[in-house]
This record gives sequence, C-alpha cells and structure tokens, in this order.
Amino acid sequence: METADFIVIGGGIAGASVAYELSREGKVVLLEMESSPGYHSTGRSAAVMSENYGPSLWSRLVTASRAFLESPPDHFTEVPLVMPRGALFLAHEHERKQLHRQADELLRRGAAIEMTTAEQALKFCPVIRAEEFATAMYEPDCKDIDSNALVTSYLKALRKNGGTFLTDARVEALERSGSTWRASTPRGEFEAPVIVNAAGGWVQEIAKLAGLSYRNVVPFRRTAVVFDPPEGSVIQTWPMTFDVSETFYFKPEAGRIMVSPIDMAPSPPCDAQADELEVAIAVDRIHRFTTMNVRTVVHKWGGLRTFAPDHEPVIGRDPEQPSFVWLAGQGGNGVMGGAAAARLAASFALNTNIPEDIAALGITTENVSPGRRCVVDPNHAAPVVGTMEEFE
Ligand SMILES: Cc1cc2nc3c(=O)[nH]c(=O)nc-3n(C[C@H](O)[C@H](O)[C@H](O)COP(=O)(O)OP(=O)(O)OC[C@H]3O[C@@H](n4cnc5c(N)ncnc54)[C@H](O)[C@@H]3O)c2cc1C
Repeated sequence: METADFIVIGGGIAGASVAYELSREGKVVLLEMESSPGYHSTGRSAAVMSENYGPSLWSRLVTASRAFLESPPDHFTEVPLVMPRGALFLAHEHERKQLHRQADELLRRGAAIEMTTAEQALKFCPVIRAEEFATAMYEPDCKDIDSNALVTSYLKALRKNGGTFLTDARVEALERSGSTWRASTPRGEFEAPVIVNAAGGWVQEIAKLAGLSYRNVVPFRRTAVVFDPPEGSVIQTWPMTFDVSETFYFKPEAGRIMVSPIDMAPSPPCDAQADELEVAIAVDRIHRFTTMNVRTVVHKWGGLRTFAPDHEPVIGRDPEQPSFVWLAGQGGNGVMGGAAAARLAASFALNTNIPEDIAALGITTENVSPGRRCVVDPNHAAPVVGTMEEFE
C-alpha cells in the first residue's frame, strides 16, 4: 500500500499536467491504465493552439496557457513546446458577422489578427478555392504544440518533485473510508485523501467506481486523415486552415497534410478508430474547398473528445463528494488549454482560490463546476452538438 496526498487518474495531458501542479505542494501518485502515457486522445490530437478555437471559457483557458507553453519554467523542457503555425479562418458571405464577432473577441483579449478577403488569403494558403468563400481572418499567433514533449516534460518534472507515475495501472476499484480514498490497480493499492479524475473519455466510469452520480461528460469520436501534398509545394509555412461553419480543417503535419472533417459521433470510451465514411467526407472537403488532389490516404486515425452539454470545462469538486475533483470535458481544447486547466483543477484539489490570472478572465467556480445544471441534469443526457458560436 502506497500513501500520497493526491491520486490522479489518467496519464494524458490532463492527468500529467495536474499531477505536476500538485507535486509542487504534496505527494502525488499518477495512475495510467495503458502501457504508455498519452495513448488515447492526447496522442491523437492535431496539437495546435489557437485562441479562436472552442467555446468561450475554454478559449480563455487557452489564453491563460499561452505563457506557459511559450516560455515554460527553467529546466522544464529541452525543446521548444510550441512552433509558429498561424491559423486561417474562412467564412462564407452569411458568416461574415460571425467572423467579425470572433475577431472582436480576440482583439479584446489582446490577440493579433488580420482580416482579409478570401482572395487575399491565398497569400497565406495558396491552395484554398477562394471563390468558395467571402472573407477570412488570419491569426498569426496560432502555434503547433509538441504534445509528446509537453506530456514527457510534465512527467519528468512530476518525478523530480517526488511524484510517482505508473503505467499498466488501471484503476479497477475506488473505495472511500473515513477521509481516505483507496484505488486498487494491477500495480498495487494506493491511498490518498483527494482523487483527481482526469481519465478523458473514461471520467464517467471513474465516477461510477467512486459511487457518485451520473454526470453529463461523454466522449465523441473524431477522424483524422493524412495525405501527400501537391508535388513540389512548400507546405511548411501554410497555416492551420478552418472554415467558420466547421466542416473541415487541414494543416501541414510532418511533411504531409492532415485533414479532419470535424466529425463528432457519440462513442463509448474505447480505442477509437477512423470512421470510413468520415474519411471519404474529409477527402471530399479537400477536393471541394482546395485545389489539392488526394491520391492516397497515407494514414488515418480516430480519437475521442469528451464534452459536457455546453462544451465548457468540467473542473471542480464533485457536488456529492468534494474530495473527488473533476478535470474533464476538454473537447478539442485539452492540449492547448491544459496548462491553465491544470492550475485551475489544482486550486480545487488544494482548496485554494482560483489563480488570479484565470479568475481575471471570468472563470468562476460556478461556470466550470461539475455541479452546474447541464452537467448534473440527466435530462441533458445527449450533449448538444453545434458550432463554436452557439456556445458563446
Ligand atoms: C482528431 C483530434 C484532434 C484534436 N486536436 C486538438 C488540437 O489541435 N488542440 C487541442 O488542444 N486539442 C485537440 N484535441 C483534443 C485533445 O486531444 C483532448 O482534449 C485532450 O487530449 C484530452 O486529454 P485527456 O488527458 O483528458 O484525455 P486522454 O489523453 O484520453 O487521457 C485520459 C487517460 O486516462 C486513462 N484512463 C482511463 N481510464 C483509466 C483507469 N480506469 N485507470 C487509469 N487510467 C485510465 C486513459 O488510458 C488515458 O490515457 C483533438 C482531439 C482529436 C481526437
């Protein structure tokens, strides 16, 4: 039996980052069921950081994460965690207002942007079919994240702070007696007064093991496809390119192009696979909105993104059991917003105030709470699927 101050469940970006934050204050055990960290969602992401991506509160957590990713603490990492990428958002005529609202919000938060016509946007990405769109916004500060280096650095710092990270340690049972939780795994039993549930698509299963009520935080599958770019093109400087109505995005990825049809299909927690129909849709979107031709799909994969009905973070103490802290509902922002989300979750686990910079962005205990109505109300069992705009 090993005892600690905190047990964190899940070795993706959420678990690794909050375990690191907590290890600065006490003894942490981080438990991961797979044989390597980041095997599920974290290792399957597009790994970009854009302050214009995701619902309102998540995009603020991205703003609050930027400084950590761009200038991590001394000795945290030997390689840069982010690299320049840029993001281009393309809008049809009827989406002009929506794009301008997004631009205003970004400017308010101090982000740099450039508004252009679709035609002028060809200078950023020469393969878009400009005639399909009316207007565009370029966000120069969008970055590629080295998510592998990020997770590895968090784990290295966790160990340096005296914490333990165990793989092949699936939490199979959780019991609470007195003021102590006991987690049983094939690697042994662990006790601590506080649990942090950072199990991604499995957060609901962990709550069930803890004997807590159902919370609406459920996984959805997304498909990604990789193909070769047009021969002779220099793709390295192309931005991550989205359409505002969220029907596709594509970006350069290790000398090739990654595209997603932005699918969102409810899924049980599992080793997600690419959906064949979505692969075909992704290829079709490339043919329709760009001048590129997908001859062969070189690689494809599926990954889970976990959402509350309002798509906002589920971070905080469980309303039934305050010693059970949620760090969940990351959707498509978990890597880019993970640094601030971890500091926020750590403040709940430590029972301290929300970090000042995060509170200043309008994040409150209530608006991210696992006790908020849409998360606890079983009538909201099917999370809403919609566009970024609907959630703002
Ligand atoms: C195609 C795609 C593109 C994306 N693009 C981006 C992007 O560009 N930028 C961005 O920020 N985000 C992106 N995301 C979202 C991002 O990947 C997720 O938000 C993030 O990885 C969630 O991290 P996590 O740690 O919560 O989940 P995970 O990485 O899934 O980690 C949860 C871990 O918990 C473990 N676990 C589960 N049950 C147990 C148990 N009983 N005991 C022990 N361990 C357990 C699992 O094995 C898993 O490793 C994308 C996602 C997809 C699928």
